[in-house]
Amino acid sequence: MSNVVLQLPKNLLQKLKSHYQSQIHQTPVNTIFQAKANGASITAYSSGKVLFQGKNAAIEADKWKTLALHSNQSQSAKVSVNQHDYQPPKDFFSQSHIGTDEAGTGDYFGPITVGAVYVTDDQIEPLKQLGITDSKTLTDDRITELAKTLVREQIPYTLLTLDNKKYNQLQKKGWSQGKMKAMLHHHAIHKLAKKLGEVKPKGILVDQFCQPSVYQKHIQSEGEGLPENTFFMTKAESYSTAVAAASIIARAKFVKEMDRLSKSVGVTIPKGASNKVDETAAYIIRKFGLNKMNQVAKTHFANTEKAKKLVKK
Ligand code: MN
Repeated sequence: MSNVVLQLPKNLLQKLKSHYQSQIHQTPVNTIFQAKANGASITAYSSGKVLFQGKNAAIEADKWKTLALHSNQSQSAKVSVNQHDYQPPKDFFSQSHIGTDEAGTGDYFGPITVGAVYVTDDQIEPLKQLGITDSKTLTDDRITELAKTLVREQIPYTLLTLDNKKYNQLQKKGWSQGKMKAMLHHHAIHKLAKKLGEVKPKGILVDQFCQPSVYQKHIQSEGEGLPENTFFMTKAESYSTAVAAASIIARAKFVKEMDRLSKSVGVTIPKGASNKVDETAAYIIRKFGLNKMNQVAKTHFANTEKAKKLVKK
């Protein structure tokens, strides 16, 4: 028996209800519904909390977790994400600063990579001219090219890679992916600050993946603290050239690692967490055995169970 709790935005709650409509069996007080489906019991509360129980709880919850991550949340939800005391000051983006971003967190296969980049005020415009911009709008080939440009321009950076073996170890130890990300960002910043020596940036901007208070809780649990002038904002890569550069460095490394993993298993490993991913995972399990997944994938993702089912067919 496992339990999974999700907090879903309103628009998804509606979708959830219509999805399970035919399997709703009761509506206890303070709930929107209670349903049984696909080996899981689902209770949706009026507060937006949804409880998944039963042997397939994790698999069933995962469908909605992914949707929740990618859904266009309501305007109010978006606003609340950025309602904290760690917004960068107005003139921040034109000043010398460190930016950080990660890649690979939503991908079943491959590592998590985190980049931290220091950009001076006079480098910001030239780097924009060279095409250093939000990596989500760029192809993988272009990203690889731009990462080389950053190296050639001798832009100071640090890059950390959490490989799958270590990722799975930490996950089994009870680390959430959020904690892994927080520690990677923190270490990348620390390493870069050390590299910079006497040079003191105006501040540090983390591309926000959780509330700053949660980020702090994570790093404090490992005896670390937030450096002075650290700021957080979502979609920071669209505003900060340093974060855009960090996202390019991180993504380029992720792409490179995916190529390396693909070569090691003799098949092109797809990015993301789609059905194609399940099929490739099943192929790898058949060819190398289940243990291989520990070295190439984030095994706690629902894709592992789906792949195992495909293998049995
Ligand atoms: Mn990001």
